[in-house]
Amino acid sequence: MRAVLGIDVGATWTRALLVDRDGRVLDRVKVRTSDNPLRDIAERVAGWNFDAVGIGSIGPLDLRSGWVEGTPNAPSRRFPLVEPLRRFGKPIVAANDCVAAVWGEHVFRYAGIRNMVYVTVSTGVGAGAIINGTLLLGKDGNAHELGHAVIDFRARRRCRCGGRGHLEAFVGGANICDVYREVAGESVREPAEIFERYRRGIEAAERFVDLWLDALAAGLATVAAAYDPELMIIGGAVALGNWDLLSRELPRRLREYLSVREPAIVRASFGDDEVAVGAAALAYKTPESLQEFGYPRL
Ligand SMILES: [Zn+2]
Repeated sequence: MRAVLGIDVGATWTRALLVDRDGRVLDRVKVRTSDNPLRDIAERVAGWNFDAVGIGSIGPLDLRSGWVEGTPNAPSRRFPLVEPLRRFGKPIVAANDCVAAVWGEHVFRYAGIRNMVYVTVSTGVGAGAIINGTLLLGKDGNAHELGHAVIDFRARRRCRCGGRGHLEAFVGGANICDVYREVAGESVREPAEIFERYRRGIEAAERFVDLWLDALAAGLATVAAAYDPELMIIGGAVALGNWDLLSRELPRRLREYLSVREPAIVRASFGDDEVAVGAAALAYKTPESLQEFGYPRL
């Protein structure tokens, strides 16, 4: 295979990259996510030359049907992942976005590491894991939805999924303005404002950031307890936009909660392309080798 198509379906944007064997991006397109985002991408990449297709998507997924089913934030709650791309007659593989991301890191950056997790801190919080060299999927492709790990069982705060006290409800970009109002007693319009106020030394923002870092560390300790990884890769817009803060504060706070030997913590390698590059890395696998991970044939 000379090049593959790697697609990232997000709640707001859908990206497609043409990616070569070495992870180099040869071409790219980005569209606003519609009620049928893969149909839109299929039209935009019709002139591209690729040998396989990988899709990393917001979930939940049904890997057997090849559909997203019941996603809370996209324009449509359900849409097809696979069917709109069948016209190209190439092999297609789909995965949860963080599952794709961890595979991309494994293939293109950390080939020697057999136990690693990827955690995104973005609008929501999610994880992908490779344990003993195997990419973990779950029965429908929705394993390790660890944004919904409970970090405060007495909390009244509800997550967008409906459950109480979840990690995402405290640290996800969609929730932190609400948490900030409760903790700091003042309102902001977007997460970036909170961190900007923190950097200006505003006491209320410092109080919030202290809570946010502890909540994130507690969540990451839960991830570490579940998987015992050597390497923990952190991505997502909220984390990457505040990497100075995370790299300085996280290891020390994580140690307070850890039960296992401390993993190395690094930032995600591919920025906005993280999921699409990971999807491309999956597309380079043969259908037979995907079945070893428990993939159904699509
Ligand atoms: Zn939840």
